Amino acid sequence: MLLNGRDLLAVANEHNFAVPAFNISDFAMFNGILEISEERQAPLIVAIHPDEVSHLGHNALPGIIQGAHRSSVPVAIHWDHGGSYEQILTAIQIGFTSVMIDGSMLPYEENVAITRRVVEAAHAVGLSVEGELGTIGKLDEQAESGVAVSAITHTDPAQAVDFVRRTGVDSLAIAIGTAHGLYPKHVKPELKLDLLQEIKALLPIPLVLHGGSGNPDDEIGQSVKLGINKINISSDIKVAYHDKMREVLADLTLREPNTIQPPALAAMKEVAAQKIELFDAAGKASLY
Ligand SMILES: [Zn+2]
Repeated sequence: MLLNGRDLLAVANEHNFAVPAFNISDFAMFNGILEISEERQAPLIVAIHPDEVSHLGHNALPGIIQGAHRSSVPVAIHWDHGGSYEQILTAIQIGFTSVMIDGSMLPYEENVAITRRVVEAAHAVGLSVEGELGTIGKLDEQAESGVAVSAITHTDPAQAVDFVRRTGVDSLAIAIGTAHGLYPKHVKPELKLDLLQEIKALLPIPLVLHGGSGNPDDEIGQSVKLGINKINISSDIKVAYHDKMREVLADLTLREPNTIQPPALAAMKEVAAQKIELFDAAGKASLY
């Protein structure tokens, strides 16, 4: 069934688990992610970044929407890292049920203003909105957005309360030390779990963790217990998908996508299943 992000995350917030938001870039990935979510009976957020929307093409959206409607698990279709008001209108027009407006790189008042404007438009037509406060790191050139890890600004709890009150966002992406992309071997990611606790105590709405690939499992697991209700996973599933595909393609005689892609999808699904378990989302479809 197709849901908006607010209804999907409200249950996660009430029952203390996190819904995985898997970034998909092609239709095979979408099918694979939907299949593993159904196998594990886990609610799902199909996250599509503007660059991925461009790659997929708007014509793919009706198929994704239909897949969500027919699914045995609740699904939201989420525009990841909206960069402008115009992008949000596009998301509304082509059938997304949840949007993120990322004004985190703007001065605070400008972030409030654009987020407020997006909330007014999205709420008018039943979509939920995720905002972002504080900055998330960017580890490599392929990562979707962010700042140098040395320049990460952690979310300020008092400012987060003010931001949510003034913008009306349904959920908030917070910066507690994660970064987009893959951590180099010498960088040891560390989440500020005390900061998360402080924010959740003041702001009991669904909180979102971006850049969830590559962090130690025990920290991610703890963040779920402490109030993170949506975790974005992009790099980890794409690495699994394409590493396996490279291996398969070593056989130079292969030509057909239906022989090349299935092993790659199986590898991707294995990683996705591990995330679903880690986020305590398995079996939670029955709560909807
Ligand atoms: Zn992100």
